[in-house]
Amino acid sequence: MAEGLVRGEGFATDASIIKADAQRQRRVENGDDIDWGDPAQAERPVREYLAALEETNDPKESTRTLSLTDPAATWTAAPGGPAFFAYSTNYLIDLETGIILDVEASAVNKAAQAEATRTMIDRVEETFGLKPERLVGDTNYGSASMLGWLVDEKHIEPHVPVFDKSERTDGTFGRSDFTYDAENNHYLCPAGKLLKTSWRTQKKDPLSYRASQFDCQACPLKEKCCPNSLSRKIVRTPFESARDVARAIAKTDAYKQSRRERKKVEMLFAHLKRILKMDKLRSRGFSNAKDEFLLAATAQNLRRMAKRLAITEPVTQLIPA
Ligand code: SF4
Repeated sequence: MAEGLVRGEGFATDASIIKADAQRQRRVENGDDIDWGDPAQAERPVREYLAALEETNDPKESTRTLSLTDPAATWTAAPGGPAFFAYSTNYLIDLETGIILDVEASAVNKAAQAEATRTMIDRVEETFGLKPERLVGDTNYGSASMLGWLVDEKHIEPHVPVFDKSERTDGTFGRSDFTYDAENNHYLCPAGKLLKTSWRTQKKDPLSYRASQFDCQACPLKEKCCPNSLSRKIVRTPFESARDVARAIAKTDAYKQSRRERKKVEMLFAHLKRILKMDKLRSRGFSNAKDEFLLAATAQNLRRMAKRLAITEPVTQLIPA
């Protein structure tokens, strides 16, 4: 695999979960709900279900809305649409052939989807000995830590938009107006002055670069640079060099091509929903969602494989005379 494409898509859990939660909530409010945690009240299937939930479906983070019957599901919504409980399926596909190399279930949020991507890339490398030279993805995979992992640890080209809050919207200079000099470990500001980690010998914070107050106070660009402080400061994260790599790639023609190729994975999810009719999950719990996603991806791969291996030549030519 020379090139990988990664993407996550949320799939709603069955609508009966919301209904069951609403019914249970009403029983709780009326004071006649069963205490499911009490072994004397819970029947065996309920006890087993709760034990399985605790073991494999522990909600990792406190969510604003928690399903009482499927606590590992994420409460989410598509832009402009109604909210629902869902799990995300994450695909790592080979960009050239469109084959799904790995699938991983996760919660529906950026951090979980990025974590699922790390799992898939490592697993594909361990299982098949395959590692992409470039990885194509959307902004969900453009966090600083994810880019740092891709570039510094895995040596994979990130064809991913950088998730960047360093640019300003108030008209003052953003990070991109300052030039980093890696050799000398300093920034140059638009007025050509230095921003250094420390102006004294003792370094306290190696990731903060400051201009000298002397330069800034006399600078004609001060109003456009740091109108509310004595001098300008730039904070550089440990992953900034990886982010610079991604920013440089984003200016290339290869990146434009990667953006166009992202639709390959969109088509797989559209196919899953429209042709295979998997518009929602049929069972509850993280492990069941994982199984459903794995089976669906397997079905998609088998369809693709059947098409690729289909006999295209006339049968008569294959029969020996
Ligand atoms: S205000 Fe300071 S950091 Fe900003 S452009 Fe002027 S000298 Fe450079």
